[in-house]
Amino acid sequence: MKMEHAKNYINGEWVDSESGKTFQSINPANKEEVVGVVSKSGREDIDRAVQAAREAYDKWRLTPAPRRGEILFKAAEILKNKKEILGRLETREMGKVLMEGLGDVQEAIDMAYYMAGEGRRFSGETVPSELPDKDMKSLRVPIGVFALITPWNFPIAIPAWKIFPALICGNTIVFKPSSEVSVCAAKFVEILEEAGIPKGVLNLVHGSGGEVGEYLAGHPGIDAVSFTGSFEIGSRLEGICGNIHRPVVTEMGGKNVILVMEDANLDLAIEGAVWGGFGTSGQRCTAASRVTVHKKVYDTFMERFQTAASQLRLGDGLKKETDMGPVVNETQFHKILNYIDIGKDEGARLIVGGKAHREGECAKGYFIQPTIFGDVAPKMRIAQEEIFGPVVSVIRAEDVEEAIRIANGTPFGLSSAIYTQDVNKTAIAERDLDFGIVYINASTIGAEIHLPFGGIKRSGYGRKEAGGRGGALDTYSRWKVIYRDFSGRLQKAQIDK
Ligand code: NAP
Repeated sequence: MKMEHAKNYINGEWVDSESGKTFQSINPANKEEVVGVVSKSGREDIDRAVQAAREAYDKWRLTPAPRRGEILFKAAEILKNKKEILGRLETREMGKVLMEGLGDVQEAIDMAYYMAGEGRRFSGETVPSELPDKDMKSLRVPIGVFALITPWNFPIAIPAWKIFPALICGNTIVFKPSSEVSVCAAKFVEILEEAGIPKGVLNLVHGSGGEVGEYLAGHPGIDAVSFTGSFEIGSRLEGICGNIHRPVVTEMGGKNVILVMEDANLDLAIEGAVWGGFGTSGQRCTAASRVTVHKKVYDTFMERFQTAASQLRLGDGLKKETDMGPVVNETQFHKILNYIDIGKDEGARLIVGGKAHREGECAKGYFIQPTIFGDVAPKMRIAQEEIFGPVVSVIRAEDVEEAIRIANGTPFGLSSAIYTQDVNKTAIAERDLDFGIVYINASTIGAEIHLPFGGIKRSGYGRKEAGGRGGALDTYSRWKVIYRDFSGRLQKAQIDK
């Protein structure tokens, strides 16, 4: 298959890193396949990208928002035409099955159309003044130059969730994607270039997070940072930005949960647990890595969950028959297997899986069997820490109150779900589950872009991505308040209202 060259994109030019160094992007389903050769940036490349974004800022912020929206609309159309190409590239570069890759691109298409429309709805408030001959209003204005740092698990959608709202609000951007999906990032930026983003407005720099990501986040030419990734890195960036009084948005990990109650429709609950736990090989921030099951249906649930998981077909995500692809890289592969050992040592009961999968062509990649632990105690490490792989912990619960206590008892708070046919239990779950997102009779995955997205506790600071009130527009713009006095009277005479 074709090997790509992913260069940096700085000030409207595709350029090698100044050092000329490169690294390879590998297909996790087949380690022998190099998907792309990528420019390895150093600090000097970041400096140039930040300078280009700074220089482009004034012109872009003064470009009328509806005009900015027209470019995003065009980007949506191009994305639509290239959906299949991008979806296939995602599968090759990070392993998710094609159907999921196409879904990822679709989110970017939806986000582009949505944000294009926001260009005409970029409204503030006009309210009456207490004083005669005065008017006042609030305006949304851009923040400046944004550093956007993204993970590998949604190679197109997460950059789109950040780039489109940042652009519509009038910011310019330096984008540092995860090294694992550099080729996807370059193809995405190519589409925005084709749509007509002016030079310098969107810059792309590849390279290691520790070397260039951190330098970018703390760079004096950056005004704000938006990060999605692990709690470890996100909290580190919060510290760096906090010390220099720089706004930072962090969307981080999860230890999401499905609650299965005694009256649940088990067909739905099993399907939700399988796709929540093993979709994207368990590598979604919203993956259902815990399931609490009411004691009355625990045995039936476990039997059916085990059967469903053992029927999943592992393989290259480009093949039609594949249900689950590999995990993203060698580090994750070993980390997940290590967690499986931890689970066994902690005394959890291994129900299915628990090993690397090396049959046939899978021997060439990083495949791990879908793994279920039963009889898990809520405080075990496998039930507390984000594993980010196809490993699900099942915990027995007495009733809805206990299930909710277990659900809330981790440091994370991104996504949760309850399966029940009792309307009262849905109301209790809606009220008491301490998560950014609650699903009712649906799995923990599958956000829509026109409601805000985000978690609490170690998952993030609240709702800052995607749309709706409190969503991305509030993240990528700030309020400016204007008071205008057209009375011509001296201020002092107006003090006594
Ligand atoms: P990660 O290791 O935290 O990396 C995220 C991004 O940060 C990558 O671009 C990475 O670059 C960069 N980075 C690494 N070290 C850095 C540093 N010291 N300073 C600045 N940037 C640095 O996360 P990941 O493995 O890519 O993604 C998986 C994590 O993302 C999981 O925890 C998952 O739950 C979370 N996630 C959260 C959401 C959400 O919306 N809440 C969505 C998706 C994923 P390199 O790749 O080059 O190291």
